[in-house]
This record gives sequence, C-alpha cells and structure tokens, in this order.
Amino acid sequence: MSGTVRVVVVGGGYAGVMAANRAAGGTPGTAPVEVVLLDPGTQFTERIRLHQVGAGGRNTAGVDWAEVLHPQVRRMQARALSIDSGNRRIRGDHGSVRFDWLVYAVGSGEQPTALLSVTNRAAAGSTREAIAGLAPGSAVTVAGAGPTGVEVASALAVARPDLLITIVAPSGLAHPVTGRHAVARRLQHLKISVEEGVVDPVTGTITSGGHSRPSAAATIWTAGLAVPSLASDSGLPVDGDGRLLVDATLTVPGHERIIGAGDAVCVTGAAGAHLRASCAAAIPMGAHAADTVLARLSGVAPSAIDIGYLAQCLDLGAGRGHLQLVHPDDAPRVVALSGRSAGWAKEQICRMTVAWLAREARRPGSFRGPTGPAVPVG
Ligand SMILES: Cc1cc2nc3c(=O)[nH]c(=O)nc-3n(C[C@H](O)[C@H](O)[C@H](O)COP(=O)(O)OP(=O)(O)OC[C@H]3O[C@@H](n4cnc5c(N)ncnc54)[C@H](O)[C@@H]3O)c2cc1C
Repeated sequence: MSGTVRVVVVGGGYAGVMAANRAAGGTPGTAPVEVVLLDPGTQFTERIRLHQVGAGGRNTAGVDWAEVLHPQVRRMQARALSIDSGNRRIRGDHGSVRFDWLVYAVGSGEQPTALLSVTNRAAAGSTREAIAGLAPGSAVTVAGAGPTGVEVASALAVARPDLLITIVAPSGLAHPVTGRHAVARRLQHLKISVEEGVVDPVTGTITSGGHSRPSAAATIWTAGLAVPSLASDSGLPVDGDGRLLVDATLTVPGHERIIGAGDAVCVTGAAGAHLRASCAAAIPMGAHAADTVLARLSGVAPSAIDIGYLAQCLDLGAGRGHLQLVHPDDAPRVVALSGRSAGWAKEQICRMTVAWLAREARRPGSFRGPTGPAVPVG
C-alpha cells in the first residue's frame, strides 16, 4: 500500500456524497486520503423531489455532480456488484476497485413492483410519461398513504386536476403521516379520495371492502421499503430487510474497515432505534461515517452517533405543506404548521439539503446541521 489511504464510498445519494466530501478533507498529521465514489448516475439525484418529477410538475431532480462533490473526489460511474471484505475489493460493472476503508451507502427503494413509482430518476421519468399520456377524467391509484404516497397524490392533483386520484392503503391515512386531520383537509380540497384497501403490486387490482376491481388507468406504487441486496449477496451481516447491520459508530461488527450510512443500513442498539429511512437521517449519518473513518486513521476511538430529529415535513402541492415539530426521538410535539408557511419551510429544507452537501464539498468538516452537531430536519 502507498502512503495514501483510499476510502471508497459506494452510493452517491445524500449519505454517500456527504461522507465522500467530509472524508476528502482528511485529517492533519495522518496519511493523505484519496476518495473514490461509485455511483451509476450521470447526476446527483435530489430524491426528495422525485414526486414532483413523477407528477409532471418539475422537469428534473438531477444536480450536476460538480455542484455537490468535492473536486478531489474521484467519481466512478459504476454499480458495485459485490464486496470482498477479506481482500478489500469491490467488483463493479466496470471493473474492480481496491479499498482501505469502505462506506456503504446504497440507499433504498420501494418494495419491488411492476407498477409505476417515483423511487428513482428512471422510475419517476416513466411515471411522468405515463401520466402525460392519460386522458382527462382517467382514474389514478396511489398505492400507499405514507409521506411519499401523500406527496405524489398532492403533486399530481395540482399538475393534473382533471384526473380522478385515489390513495389506497390498508388503514387509510392512519399511518404513518402525522397531522392527519390537516393533511386530510388538504387532500379533500385537492379532491383526492382516500380508501381503505389493498393494491396488488403486480396487477394494480384493488381489493376493498371484500370486493376486487380492476386496476385504474395508472397506479403509482409508494409502499414498503426495499434495499439493494449488495450487502447480503456479499456475505455481510444484514437484518431481515437486507439492511447492513452497523453499530453506533456505523461500523459493521467484525469488519472494522466497513462503515455504513443512510437508508441501506440498520443501526443496532438505542442510538439507532428511532431512525427512519430519511434524507434527514442520511445526511448526518454520512458525516458520521466519514468521522468514524478519520478517527480510526488518527488512532482515536470513533464516537457513537447521536442523531435527533426536529420536524417531519410534507409537500402538499402548490407551495402548501404540513410541518410537524418532533422531539429528537421523532415523537410529535404539539406544534405544527400547515398551508403556505409549511410549504415555504419545506422548500427551504429541500434547498438546504443540497446546500449542506455543496458546503461540505467546499469546506470538509463544516456540516453541523441546523442547530448543532448532526441535528436533521425533514
Ligand atoms: C418522492 C420521495 C420524497 C421523499 N421526501 C423525503 C423528505 O421530505 N424528507 C426525508 O427526510 N426523506 C424523504 N425521502 C426519503 C429520502 O429520499 C431517502 O431516505 C434518502 O434519499 C436516503 O439517502 P441515501 O443516501 O441513504 O440513499 P439514496 O438517496 O437513495 O442514494 C443511494 C445512491 O446509491 C446508488 N446505488 C444503489 N445501488 C448501488 C450500487 N450497487 N453501486 C453503486 N451505487 C449504488 C443509487 O443509484 C443512489 O444514487 C423521500 C423519498 C422519495 C422517493
């Protein structure tokens, strides 16, 4: 090995880009750090805006890599296929790469489906085309009443008020959206129906009240969480959903050189018990993953993550939203905002996520979250 230490980050989403930028700063007095980022995308994806793209209200959620990435991070446009932890090599679809330290940040998608979705740029683009081809008066089903389902339906109702939109979920709006009544009023205003039922992920057939009916003209699937199988395919420890298991320092037990961050990992123990798959957690986790690597390079014991939430935000279309303040453990506080003020706050948060990555690219080590170390919103 040369005097340079190579950190390979797999996955260039919110967690991976934050980790790559922070690691690129290195640590004074230790070996220089070379950072390689593996991601198949031609641009960084602002995933939290994909519902707007899928609905047709926004042209793109792509951001040029140069805007968010430290200039010394070497980007490889490639998909990792397997990780050989013993020999410290990653095999990708364009060759293989050696690592001294690996940050695993491959993100997530919805559960597999043959239906439309907004889980990544390609899926959101296909959804956008399908929606554009619908005749006025066509029925659209949004499967799932979580934040993504509610945001997709709202964006669609604003972009195409001529469509008949129904959100279908087993418990209606009951789970997991906070501010249920305010959100329900907004959906009613947008003429979006909410129905208790189950959507078949292959055919789109709807079963409700003991009866089945054929799929709508278009069905957008937003339910469930699925992560890439890269960790389990590589023989690394995973939970029942295939998420890479990491401890409170974000290190894989028994694999000190492999660190994980973002939706694709499960933080075991109390430090991670409240974390949900979110950009709000992915960004500080990415920063912490880099800090763990840099601490070990300096011979210092890495610290445990301490991530607390501030708010949950929903984009309810046309500049309106719902913002629920939460305790650090994500439990709702009594204060919530609705309407235009919440829509404005939500837009600032979306901008802030990209701004944090860009600032970390210019000044590695600068990310502290809005109110102190690793305190996210969103
Ligand atoms: C429509 C929508 C709205 C959302 N709104 C919000 C919100 O308001 N607030 C919030 O907190 N969260 C929101 N989320 C969730 C949020 O987007 C995710 O939690 C967040 O993107 C997770 O970040 P990540 O870095 O872990 O993964 P991702 O952002 O998913 O990035 C993972 C990256 O890894 C790459 N990758 C995957 N496999 C490989 C491989 N084998 N090799 C190399 N690269 C690979 C992918 O191409 C991708 O670029 C929303 C999600 C959606 C879909």
